[in-house]
Amino acid sequence: MPGPGYYWIGKEEEEELIDVIRAGYLFRYGDVKDPSFRHKVKTLEEELSKNFNVKYALAVSSGTAALITAMSAAGIGPGDEVIVPGYTFIASISSIVFCNAVPILAEVDESLTLDPADVEKKITPYTKAIMAVHMIGNQCNLEKLQELAEKNKLLLIEDTAQAFGGSYRGKRLGTIGLLGTYSFNIFKTINAGDGGLVVTDDEELYKKSFAFHDQGHFPLRCGVEVGNRSIIGQNFRMTELTAAVLLAQFRKLDKIIKRLKALKARFKEQIRDIKDLEFRRINDPEGECSTILTVFLPDKKSADAAAEKLKTTTVSHSGWHVYNNMEQILGMKTINLRSNPLKNQHYRGNATYAKGMLQQTDRLLERAINISVGVVDAGLGSAFGINLNSSEEEVDQQVKQFKRVLEEVL
Ligand SMILES: *Cc1c(COP(=O)(O)O)cnc(C)c1O
Repeated sequence: MPGPGYYWIGKEEEEELIDVIRAGYLFRYGDVKDPSFRHKVKTLEEELSKNFNVKYALAVSSGTAALITAMSAAGIGPGDEVIVPGYTFIASISSIVFCNAVPILAEVDESLTLDPADVEKKITPYTKAIMAVHMIGNQCNLEKLQELAEKNKLLLIEDTAQAFGGSYRGKRLGTIGLLGTYSFNIFKTINAGDGGLVVTDDEELYKKSFAFHDQGHFPLRCGVEVGNRSIIGQNFRMTELTAAVLLAQFRKLDKIIKRLKALKARFKEQIRDIKDLEFRRINDPEGECSTILTVFLPDKKSADAAAEKLKTTTVSHSGWHVYNNMEQILGMKTINLRSNPLKNQHYRGNATYAKGMLQQTDRLLERAINISVGVVDAGLGSAFGINLNSSEEEVDQQVKQFKRVLEEVL
């Protein structure tokens, strides 16, 4: 089951989409003087950069494409290490691999985002960037991560796929690091099935991102092209159809988050007094997306028992987002692509990907249960909970069930 935006797909999305279909122009480029060209992609980029107060926004085909584009623009490549949390979606890691760089897994702390203390320990002479993943609706400790990045001359990239619309100290997530990325896949805050976006305040990085996402072209394919393309790019372009749906979804963003906040607050208030139950630390409660309410039980045993009775799993067993369950990378020593002659010959790093290597993360996730507020997804471990359209009665009912189960297991 999907993310919150899905629940509010309606006539606005239909109208935007029909507008494009009637015009017949589905490609992102066209003649702006031609009234049948509706330029939805460009409009989405403009509305987003204005609303999020960031200079440049570039729509792409997915969150994964956004990450590869952003890192390629930033010059991350062979021989570079990128520090990434062990609790994230595989795309954060695979995108680093596809930039021919080396992912270095780091611990999360009680916020279930990168633990700055462990990030510091993982810095080597090869480290080029920190990928701050704002997991399940909440911010990383950006103050500390920014400090580390500055001190060690590292690039800070925000993977904001799971926290679109959230903010940190008044600034939208994704707009604080050097580059930020979003995803509009069905499981995210707003969606068009698939889609993504890169944001930055740096003109040069925007130009490089643009070129990378569109076969080396200049922004909007304006100006000199042939004879002037300095890089080999990809086709990660967004279509007008996708942007049409996203425009309608984007205009609902603040309402969606407001509603999620109210639902989460109602749930949280009623379970606050349960003895021995702790909440995930939120680095900026004002700016959270409130898609998930994460609780910690006292130990693995009680968490397993509670999860079973709630017909869900602890986060450890939720599959998709925990390094221990990523059989694609486990044991690969490494993704360190030294043997390939195209790759950096001088890299002598020592990345490993082994089950149980992040003990602090393991200890936290085995006690954690994700209660759905807006993202109902067994793959996130959030099969139990409520959704964007839940009534107050439904919330209270789920609260009752939760309390009953906790009384049994604690
Ligand atoms: C979903 C997700 C991505 C990738 O986004 P897609 O649009 O599915 O390619 C990247 N990082 C995280 C943390 C995600 O949850």
